[in-house]
Amino acid sequence: GIEDARLAGLVARRRSHAGAASVLFYEEPIEMVRASGVFMFDAKGNRYLDVYNNVPSVGHCHPHVVAAIARQAETLAIHTRYLNETVEAYADRLLASFPGELSNLVMTCTGSESNDLAVRLACSASGGTGFVVTETAYHGNTALTTEISPSSFKTGHIPPHVRTVPMPAGRPGDGPGDLARRFAADVGAALGDLAEKGIRPAGLIVDTIFSSDGVFADPPGFLEPAVAAVRAAGGLYIADEVQPGFGRTGAGLWGFSRHEVTPDIVTMGKPMGNGYPMGGVVTRPELIERYSKNFGYFNTFGGNTVAAAAGAAVLDVIESEGLIANAARVGAELRAGLVSLAARHAAIGAVRGAGLFVGLDIVDPESRAPDPAAASALINGLKRRRVLVGAAGPFGHTLKIRPPLCFSADDAALFVECVDAVLGA
Ligand code: PMP
Repeated sequence: GIEDARLAGLVARRRSHAGAASVLFYEEPIEMVRASGVFMFDAKGNRYLDVYNNVPSVGHCHPHVVAAIARQAETLAIHTRYLNETVEAYADRLLASFPGELSNLVMTCTGSESNDLAVRLACSASGGTGFVVTETAYHGNTALTTEISPSSFKTGHIPPHVRTVPMPAGRPGDGPGDLARRFAADVGAALGDLAEKGIRPAGLIVDTIFSSDGVFADPPGFLEPAVAAVRAAGGLYIADEVQPGFGRTGAGLWGFSRHEVTPDIVTMGKPMGNGYPMGGVVTRPELIERYSKNFGYFNTFGGNTVAAAAGAAVLDVIESEGLIANAARVGAELRAGLVSLAARHAAIGAVRGAGLFVGLDIVDPESRAPDPAAASALINGLKRRRVLVGAAGPFGHTLKIRPPLCFSADDAALFVECVDAVLGA
């Protein structure tokens, strides 16, 4: 009726405003009007269980974060050229969560800005320009970060200074250390190819849980030999924490700690302000010093007073609500629930992940090959049951499951029940 016509009008306006750059979920996009905790509500008043969104990481519109933003916005909201206690207190607190040598923080507004700066820091520190990334990586939307984001390439053309390596997937029959050795060998081959073309490496940049590649967390520590290879070649290790950061993996704040090797540069974004746009780069002081000999870096909004207040409130909630432990506990239950579905549904392939970052492969029941059409049918079926989830991986057959970290055991059970029902229908 009238409501459907209004929604169609909204879709048409979005497409006409944004043109070919418009990105919307679902064949019938949802008009969202509000959200709270793990739930989102559309314009018709329908309630959706959010199993997708990692920006509102401590829960949608968390009252403690909202109050902190509002209080700071009515006190002082300005650029970053003045001193302010709130900003330095946040920097102290955030830096305290990193290994001691990573003692400088540059605040930005997005993950892309963070990775863009990381690329430039790595180039200036190494004297190189070459980067190694995974085949389906995404690291941002700027000119520099698009070059290292194969998932954004539509023509298959890879820039001359970039080499890709396959996702770090396990294979049947893998023994201990096989995956780590294979990934390091792939990185080594990429470095060798750069060297052959006379391109010095600047670094290896990876999302430490390989989100867009399809979520690869195990075995812990598998990155270490690949990082050793890149360092031996004179390059740096950049850990992109935009997706796994701020507690999602259920063990400390950072995904890189799972790999027992300290990065040279760490980048952050998405969940940092629970919806207030903010990002950051953490690194060793000498990298910033080296870069600063040739270039300035000023960011009008990066690390502004409101961002700092939002960021501090996010850390408060992670601590006061025990969200890291919750991610570990509920994540384990969620994975176990999904694994138990495999007995009834042959479309369920591997279940991977750490904490509340889970990848679920949907496969052809007979051939066990990736089945992106079935994954898409499942995602749309879940939407009809008012459950929000997305897909990842080179084929788009991996469900990307990353709810707000306040997801409860009951929420996890409800999600598993809905997957069961949709696959059974
Ligand atoms: N790195 C990773 C791993 C990401 O997933 C994203 C966003 N999808 C970015 C960087 C870029 O962040 P932003 O969109 O905030 O610029």
